[in-house]
Amino acid sequence: MAISPPETLSPARDAVARLVASGLRGRGGSWFPTARKWRAVLAEGGSPALVANGAEGEPGSIKDRFLMRRHPEAVLAGVARAAALLGVPDAVVYLKGAFAREEASLRAALPAGSAIAIRRGADTYVAGEETAVLEALEDRRAWPRPKPPLPTAVGLRGRPTLVQNVETLWRLPAALDDPAAYAAGETTLVSLWGHVRRPGAYDVRLGTPLARVIEEHGGGAPDGIGMIFPAGPSAAPLVPAQADTALDPDALRAAGSALGTAAVLVIGRTACPLAVGASLAVFFERESCGQCPPCTVGTGSLARVLSAVEAGTARPRDLQSLAEAAGFMAGHGYCAHARTAAGVVQGLLARFRDDVAAHLSAGRCPREGDGCDPFAPDSPERAASLRALDEATA
Ligand code: SF4
Repeated sequence: MAISPPETLSPARDAVARLVASGLRGRGGSWFPTARKWRAVLAEGGSPALVANGAEGEPGSIKDRFLMRRHPEAVLAGVARAAALLGVPDAVVYLKGAFAREEASLRAALPAGSAIAIRRGADTYVAGEETAVLEALEDRRAWPRPKPPLPTAVGLRGRPTLVQNVETLWRLPAALDDPAAYAAGETTLVSLWGHVRRPGAYDVRLGTPLARVIEEHGGGAPDGIGMIFPAGPSAAPLVPAQADTALDPDALRAAGSALGTAAVLVIGRTACPLAVGASLAVFFERESCGQCPPCTVGTGSLARVLSAVEAGTARPRDLQSLAEAAGFMAGHGYCAHARTAAGVVQGLLARFRDDVAAHLSAGRCPREGDGCDPFAPDSPERAASLRALDEATA
């Protein structure tokens, strides 16, 4: 009787099996299983491309820049390992236009003869979306593409493309080398910012209660916790009673929020939640790239209504028009911006219903003088987080 030889896995298939066992998920905001992305690219065959996405743009997020400044060799080692396994000869690391320091740090760490290219592009918020990155690398305006097709099927110059966040690639060797150990002790980089004593980038064990992250790493919130945005502007805020929710994508989804890139924004009790909401809505309007009318028009409506709610001048029909705009935005747009904006603003208004009622009955902000505009590009909160990055990587 003929005996079949034992099946051997190609290095790439073996890597996928190891990634499944490690449970590694993408750190660019989606927490999508890395193994599934790899499998999708490999299933296409042909000549795949690899793009390391270092175009960190979430307000308050500093973890990718921290890695590229502080651990450029380890980031590049992850890129090189992925490129070798996938058979990509020409991997590229893509950065925001302003990231000159990160580019210099990576270039200084490139091994002699390395074929990894480093490119800088646009500085807008949506320029970090994976298909906008591909557009920029093809020398077009950094706008998101309509999907499908997904980049794993048709990506950089038509090639099946793995677009992977730089933190994911930094974690890749540990996940491949010892999947069980990786799964048993998984951490994630948190960019802690806002009204905490010590903003900064911290590597934190998944599952740690947010209140403990804020206390032990951030030194606590001097004015107490008023709101927590676990994903920066990309998910609805939590109220203080939810501060013990675990730093975990699934636990946060169950709590009606998300972990995203873990740009955890803490807002103190003295700040007006609706002033923060107005700042958030203005951010969404400012960062809409203008390709999709439901996003452009809808984010404008959210910003107008939130400003009126904060000022206490909104009427019931304004709130009705906000609900209609949010409904119109859900499910529309080439990228997640419109539906994220709608969901986050609606979540904030629902969770801070008492503050909405207090503003509308007073006809003004009951806490006048305690405005807070954390999503403005020059806010003290964002400035402090960038200072923390500079100090940590001086
Ligand atoms: S949803 Fe908004 S940000 Fe995204 S592509 Fe459309 S207009 Fe641009």
